Amino acid sequence: MWSSLVLLSVVGCALAGPPVSRTKDQIESFKAYLERSRRDDGIRIESRMLANPKASEWENSGKFQGDILLNDEQAEYLVQEYSGTASKSDSAARNAYILGNARWPANTIIYEFNNEFTNAQVNAIYAAMREISARTCIRFRRRERWETVFVRITGRSDGCYANVGYWPRMGVHTLNLARANPGQGCFTHTTIIHEWLHIVGFMHMQSTHNRDDYVRILWQNISPGMEHNFEKYGTNVVNNMGLPYEYASNMHYGRYGFSVNRQATMLPIYNDNGLMGQQQFVTGWDWLRANRHYNCPGAWSAPINAEELSQGTYLHEYKGEEDAVIEDLPQGDVVEDLPQEEQVANVPQGFEAEKISMVEEARQDE
Ligand SMILES: [Zn+2]
Repeated sequence: MWSSLVLLSVVGCALAGPPVSRTKDQIESFKAYLERSRRDDGIRIESRMLANPKASEWENSGKFQGDILLNDEQAEYLVQEYSGTASKSDSAARNAYILGNARWPANTIIYEFNNEFTNAQVNAIYAAMREISARTCIRFRRRERWETVFVRITGRSDGCYANVGYWPRMGVHTLNLARANPGQGCFTHTTIIHEWLHIVGFMHMQSTHNRDDYVRILWQNISPGMEHNFEKYGTNVVNNMGLPYEYASNMHYGRYGFSVNRQATMLPIYNDNGLMGQQQFVTGWDWLRANRHYNCPGAWSAPINAEELSQGTYLHEYKGEEDAVIEDLPQGDVVEDLPQEEQVANVPQGFEAEKISMVEEARQDE
């Protein structure tokens, strides 16, 4: 047995000339992990949170990188990328930070709700969609009956997760938010936006190619089998949209994701001002990345602080709504087709403080 292991690793090394550096065992392990992440394990998000209470709901949702639902094409491409056999010209995965060059046509995400949410939950989801529409040129439209490619918003109890990008061959995309009172669990405003940003096309910040310049992974603290959540991907899979690495991004892991011992699994190399993995706001650069991905008007010419860029500053300070980077986007209603009875105008600002009655009977699923 030892001799075969040694042989494998020797073969692995022999094959390991640049750019490939994976052994057959590593590749098989990666494949198995991807398959596991795509299976429904039926564990409720509450149980997952108990196992690692210091991580966020979306980190704890049991999918690829925590909350990414991979389709067949993506899983296959990631294996190719991992094993070093991906073609640089493969159109399935060129323009990303973002996985795949798969933007929603006409900048419009088509959606429908599973009929399982309370009005307050629907309104919380709409509030996130409205903010995305207000800050980007991405729009939302309710699915017509004849349409086959759309996002179905579901409320399964196992976590918060979503597909990444637009995949016509997949048809029904999923955005799942385990039902909870708005402001709690998967129903915090930033978590809902986070899941939509996956649908928009983004992966997580810390899987980008240059992340080792900014974060240190503490492999010894990662739950066995979860190490693949900390893979990084090359420039043929991910793209930082011309912006610096950002600890405060709404798409960045926190310190404790996938921890086996409640110790940190990832630490910032530079001072992150405590913002790495923060769940309080979406940054101006999060929006700018989305705008650039969709070539929204002005997105590539919007003033970026050139000094910050030239000094390689990695941390973008959130400057609040009044300093939104994109200024020439259309104003006005952002989800024009919402039925009147679901209009979100009556959702209070900072709705996370909103108290609604518990709707427990609807949560007794499975
Ligand atoms: Zn995510």
